[in-house]
Amino acid sequence: MADISELTSDNAVYKTLLESTLAIPWKIDWSTMSFAYIGPQIEPLLGWEQASWVSAEDWAMRIHPEDRERVVNFCIAQSQAGVDHEADYRALTKDNGYVWIRDVVHVVRKENGEPDSLIGFMFDISERKKTEEKLIALQKELEALSYKDGLTGIANRRRFDATLAVELESARRGKTPLSLLMLDIDFFKQFNDMYGHIQGDQCLIRVAQTLSLALEGPRDLVARYGGEEFIIILPNADAVMAGNIAERCQRLIAKQAIEHKGSPHQGLVTTSIGCLTAMPDESLKPTEFIRKVDQLLYRAKQNGRNCVEKQAQ
Ligand code: GH3
Ligand code: MG
Ligand code: MG
Repeated sequence: MADISELTSDNAVYKTLLESTLAIPWKIDWSTMSFAYIGPQIEPLLGWEQASWVSAEDWAMRIHPEDRERVVNFCIAQSQAGVDHEADYRALTKDNGYVWIRDVVHVVRKENGEPDSLIGFMFDISERKKTEEKLIALQKELEALSYKDGLTGIANRRRFDATLAVELESARRGKTPLSLLMLDIDFFKQFNDMYGHIQGDQCLIRVAQTLSLALEGPRDLVARYGGEEFIIILPNADAVMAGNIAERCQRLIAKQAIEHKGSPHQGLVTTSIGCLTAMPDESLKPTEFIRKVDQLLYRAKQNGRNCVEKQAQ
């Protein structure tokens, strides 16, 4: 068997090894910024012939325009500093597509420390990137889902809690009012008993959609708070504005004319609403804010339902 020194002095062995790997070897002379070598595997991967890789400019121009500046600047800076590095980018293919590449670069330096040449390997990482992209998309989808109510498609309790915390802080800092509406469908247990759970679900969906339409502010949020309870955050809304929106919600639901024979209010589905406006300060905790608006809702129920109980503090 040949010993290692024989092997390493045999250029043909090197060439065969380099040109049969999946990674694509290349070398650029620093002084001329031109390719001294690139493996023939580049052509099946990107479509550009081996001989068409002449200058470093050819390499730069075959990087996706969105990646080009970042990658070229990074590689030049690292090379000048004599630091080995790697960069991920989309390499353009001859037929107008792209392939995700990881370029791993070794800087060969002269005795005086200046770069002599760059030697590297390009790895095709498109499969890995595809998996990564799929995972990121899935993660986003999951995140969106985790903030959505499964039945009605509007925000869920979790989203409400997160938003309320942000809006309370924003109102405190900006010294602006913040209003909350808590809505509860009247006689909904009876609705379910009379029309069944499926119809009950449909009713919840319609009410949720109607409430969404009643809101106008860019940061207004309607969420499903619990079974047949909804909650609305109105940033920047004073007591008058909040009261108007509460009444608009009731008007729009009345316009839907959802039949509810068990209801004393014209035989239609109605809601009771607690409406609370505050100028939040440090002492106003989210739980306290919610507890107070819930009390107002309770009062609306006691006052005969299908009405709004307002309070400003
Ligand atoms: P009130 O006028 O005092 O609000 O009376 P109510 O009957 O609406 O109140 P109660 O809290 O007694 O009943 C709420 C009902 O809402 C009971 C429950 O079966 C129903 N419910 C809660 N979540 C859902 C749901 O997702 N789908 C359906 N169909 N019904 C639900
Ligand atoms: Mg209820
Ligand atoms: Mg109810």
